[in-house]
Amino acid sequence: MSRTISILGSTGSIGRQTLDVAEQLGLTVAALTAHRSVKRMEEQARKFRPTLAVLTDGPAAKDLALRLADTATKVLGGPQGLAEAATLPQADTVVTAVVGTVGLAPTLAAIREKKRIALANKETLVCAGELVMDAADRYGAEIVPVDSEHSAIFQCLQGSGDRREIRRLLLTCSGGPFYGMAYEQAGKMTKADALRHPNWTMGPKITVDCATLMNKGLEVIEAMRLYRLPLSQVQVVIHRQSIVHSLVEFRDGAVLAQLGTPDMRLPIRYAMTYPARGENPALPLDLLSCPPLTFSAPDREAFPCLRLAEEAAATGGTACAVLNAANEEAVRLFLAEKIGFHDIPRLVSRAREAAAVTQNPTLEEILAADRAAREIVWKETERLS
Ligand code: NDP
Ligand code: MG
Repeated sequence: MSRTISILGSTGSIGRQTLDVAEQLGLTVAALTAHRSVKRMEEQARKFRPTLAVLTDGPAAKDLALRLADTATKVLGGPQGLAEAATLPQADTVVTAVVGTVGLAPTLAAIREKKRIALANKETLVCAGELVMDAADRYGAEIVPVDSEHSAIFQCLQGSGDRREIRRLLLTCSGGPFYGMAYEQAGKMTKADALRHPNWTMGPKITVDCATLMNKGLEVIEAMRLYRLPLSQVQVVIHRQSIVHSLVEFRDGAVLAQLGTPDMRLPIRYAMTYPARGENPALPLDLLSCPPLTFSAPDREAFPCLRLAEEAAATGGTACAVLNAANEEAVRLFLAEKIGFHDIPRLVSRAREAAAVTQNPTLEEILAADRAAREIVWKETERLS
């Protein structure tokens, strides 16, 4: 089946790789969105001729409208543009590749229209995973993960309909650029150091999350929500080579893994073609030229963000929304070089201590917890400076 896709966050790392895959598979592109990357959006719109192009930043959208005036593409701005892109009738699939909680509202809107969600935006599942998964069940919308670990698990689970057969999910983790460092040494690392990831080229926020191991913490919560499993059944394993993308251990002791080169276009392609598999022009994995595959335990002392995420996952309710929002703000401050590397877990920890937890929260309560966590981080940062 040839899909018609809308991409939320098309100018980013995942968005651009999705357009590569769309071109290779001959998919139709219905809508593209970004925040304020006018030039890149103009190039994408001229090449893929979507019905709709959205920039959420108002002035940037006005500029884009002028640039695309000679084309048939309609241009919109603001969050309502994002919502329109997520629900455009001609698209059957929505790729959520924006970064941060901003992805939540359009993901829910797309679910209500029964779109297939090719989900890259993990922050959405971390802050409101139960609501998102319940809505997907209610409306019969498919959620196919794009995150490489979750795609690996999704692939390993094909043919296994009964969740009770799963003993454990084993999430692999590259360890990031500061692997092997002690706490004190990691604390001296700068923005430039953090942006040098050994195996993947990604947007700045997730690259910093990989350095702190918060990315793996967010992925533990993402896996718990996607597969409706408790924390005790999700284990993180360091695997430096990023060849084994994750594993599932079943109750009979069998362990299935998905392997591949570290290339996000593979899980993106699978989210487009699932349950079939499309042709991939990239070079295949050559096991004979691979380095030895190694596995070890993560260091939660040197990288406290993983522990903080697991604690929030165990607490449940609004704790994960607080963790996620505080982390987003702390990473923003780190990228602006206003705080140090270990201030990220410090600020997340302060937000978690200061915010009361509401169990079984409504969407409004989740959004309020998200706002409150950001305010705590801003106030704490003023005290730091
Ligand atoms: P990027 O930073 O590269 O791209 C983010 C995209 O979202 C851009 O198109 C950007 O537009 C847009 N955007 C940013 N802020 C806003 C906003 N406030 N409102 C609307 N749109 C916005 O991120 P990545 O592609 O790296 O990551 C996207 C998501 O996928 C994240 O949730 C990440 O965790 C997840 N992910 C990424 C992987 C990767 O390999 N990159 C792997 C697995 C998951 P603009 O260009 O105009 O700023
Ligand atoms: Mg991942």
